[in-house]
Amino acid sequence: MTDEELQSRVEALRGDFAPLLLAWQRQDGRHDLPWQNTRDPYRVWLSEIMLQQTQVTTVLGYYKRFLERFPDVAALAAAPQDEVMAAWAGLGYYSRARNLHKCAQAVMERHGGAFPRTAAELAELPGIGRSTAAAISSFCFGERVAILDGNVKRVLGRLLAFDGDLAQQSQEKRLWRQAEALLPATEADMPAYTQGLMDLGASHCSPRQPQCLLCPVSGLCHGRAQGDPTLYPIKTRKLKRGQRENWWLWMEHEGRVWLQQRPSEGLWGGLWTLPMYDSEEALDAHRISLGVPALETLPRVQHALTHFDWVLHPRRVVLDGGAPDWSERPGVWVAREQLSQYALPAPLKKLLD
Ligand code: SF4
Repeated sequence: MTDEELQSRVEALRGDFAPLLLAWQRQDGRHDLPWQNTRDPYRVWLSEIMLQQTQVTTVLGYYKRFLERFPDVAALAAAPQDEVMAAWAGLGYYSRARNLHKCAQAVMERHGGAFPRTAAELAELPGIGRSTAAAISSFCFGERVAILDGNVKRVLGRLLAFDGDLAQQSQEKRLWRQAEALLPATEADMPAYTQGLMDLGASHCSPRQPQCLLCPVSGLCHGRAQGDPTLYPIKTRKLKRGQRENWWLWMEHEGRVWLQQRPSEGLWGGLWTLPMYDSEEALDAHRISLGVPALETLPRVQHALTHFDWVLHPRRVVLDGGAPDWSERPGVWVAREQLSQYALPAPLKKLLD
């Protein structure tokens, strides 16, 4: 599709798309999620970060507990990183929690504790991308800026039958320009409009089986008119899933478990885990050098991440004698009843439970 064709498609939709979406959102959209009906950027920002790659139903409990523990940006900025990680443990994608903490500190240091009001300034903060920045500024300050997260790419890609490959940055920018052209005219409509796009992507315009008959904009949708809207959006680059294996040394001594903290960057950064090895041979060599007796083999643990499947092999031992000297790698003996105070990755928490 040429730029001229795309422009004329957007021009034809402009007068009708936003009013239809707004009317539907006000009537049938979501209104009672705990992060709605507020213009507090701290709460909106927290929900937007938690909702990245995570289902609403999972986020609900975490959101409530997080706010009880860190009621405002000042409390979050002042908290030790370990406490933030512990409150996040189990939600996955832990770089989000590290950036959340850094962002709260940046809001305190650079902006005196008040979130900036424009998407451009918000996008300068750690962990806030262009679409998240636009969501915060449109929800909280009514700024006329377009969001374009995965759900919205799908809705707009289908609505326009956008045939550019979104794996290419230039095509993503091109779709973003159309998203801007479709915005409602008044700032007062921005929160409901932004929510409406999110709601449509999370409901009728689902990835595999869109419910076009129920869709408020079906009469405008080029993807539907062409017969198969699931052909859009187009994104050619496929993730190649890899495999990774590691071995866990699970030592117990007098009712306590030996844990080590991962480096702050990288996979499970800042979380507490059992000592981890790249091979069974490496684990055994280290175990023997520490004088730890033979280990029990436990069933392997499978953990699926975005880019690879992780297989973890737990090997366990209950030590009768003294605890080995681990001075060369810092760690702590944690009593079982204290484990909940440590940020453990979800598969390890399940294993130790
Ligand atoms: S008509 Fe169907 S494909 Fe088009 S926006 Fe609505 S649900 Fe999505």
